[in-house]
Amino acid sequence: MARDYYGLLGVDKGVSDTELKRAYRKLARKYHPDVNPDEAAQAKFKEISVAYEVLSDPEKRRIVDLGGDPLENGGGAAGNGFGGFGGLGDVFEAFFGGGATSRGPIGRVRPGSDSLLRMRLDLTECATGVTKQVTVDTAVLCDRCQGRGTHGDSRPMACDTCHGRGEVQTVQRSLLGQVMTSRPCPTCRGVGEVIPDPCHQCGGDGRVRARRDISVKIPAGVGDGMRVRLAAQGEVGPGGGPAGDLYVEVHEQPHEIFARDGDDLHCHISVPMVDAALGTTVAVDAILDGPIDITIPPGTQPGATIALRGHGMPQLRSGARGDLHAHIEVVVPERLDNHDIDLLRKFKEHRERETAEVRSANAPHGGGGLFSRLRETFSSR
Ligand SMILES: [Zn+2]
Ligand SMILES: [Zn+2]
Repeated sequence: MARDYYGLLGVDKGVSDTELKRAYRKLARKYHPDVNPDEAAQAKFKEISVAYEVLSDPEKRRIVDLGGDPLENGGGAAGNGFGGFGGLGDVFEAFFGGGATSRGPIGRVRPGSDSLLRMRLDLTECATGVTKQVTVDTAVLCDRCQGRGTHGDSRPMACDTCHGRGEVQTVQRSLLGQVMTSRPCPTCRGVGEVIPDPCHQCGGDGRVRARRDISVKIPAGVGDGMRVRLAAQGEVGPGGGPAGDLYVEVHEQPHEIFARDGDDLHCHISVPMVDAALGTTVAVDAILDGPIDITIPPGTQPGATIALRGHGMPQLRSGARGDLHAHIEVVVPERLDNHDIDLLRKFKEHRERETAEVRSANAPHGGGGLFSRLRETFSSR
């Protein structure tokens, strides 16, 4: 459905270029955002600007006169409505200059920025929680003027250059009429007021840089990359504005025994071959629980994992504990003396004899076949 561009500008189909321009300028003055901040007016302003853009272009106007809509198919950002029309900027530029929307004074007192601090913690500190003293270089309230920025009893005054508006507008004549440009006031830097007699300590900013000692409480269960927020411990804002927040980011240092996986901990335990076979207990200095005994059952295989429920890391909020997983490594002795060799040979012979006896006992007909007897002969050498 073609839009009624003529109707939007309140003109007839046969309107001359001069009359078209006059009609648009009349409406633009009424609906321009600088004059009329109403949202409906802004939408209207966009509509009439698009209508003017279309009708002032002979090619597009020809399409309109033929009953079509030059913005409907491929004629720009079709389907996006008026706001998405790419050519709108040209009309803005021609009549009012870039960024003509009024911003007003930005205010001398503004909120401060947030700050970020990185803190290295070892695994034990992450598990138990810790309170640390840190020194931060930050902006604090000027104690001489208490953030007012003025010296003694003097007061801020409205800026002479912009009369308190915070921005200045330059109006120039052009082919299409007046071109108005807004930019932040250079005298007050957009604030709208100036301080004739600024504070001698902060120069009128209301804040000064200082090093501050802060006590940071890290809760138990934190992990690498987590951030702890300290409300209003960031930088004080310009003009003594409310302080931002301070975020402390945890950098967990690798532990020499335990590897962390969420709330679970993993460690490796080396067990001598004979202990793995016979079973033993190994003391491990657990992060939160001190030395605990891990029972290695007889016949434990290399790579076996023993889980100790509830001996892992505490969860940040609930305090519930993860698990500790002990990964068993079986160590084979590298050097054997003659006595060791003797014992191991005897062990081996015994095992083989035993295996043979079991086989023969299980063999059919009860008496042990040829195979079993041969085996026994060989292994007893
Ligand atoms: Zn100013
Ligand atoms: Zn001051």
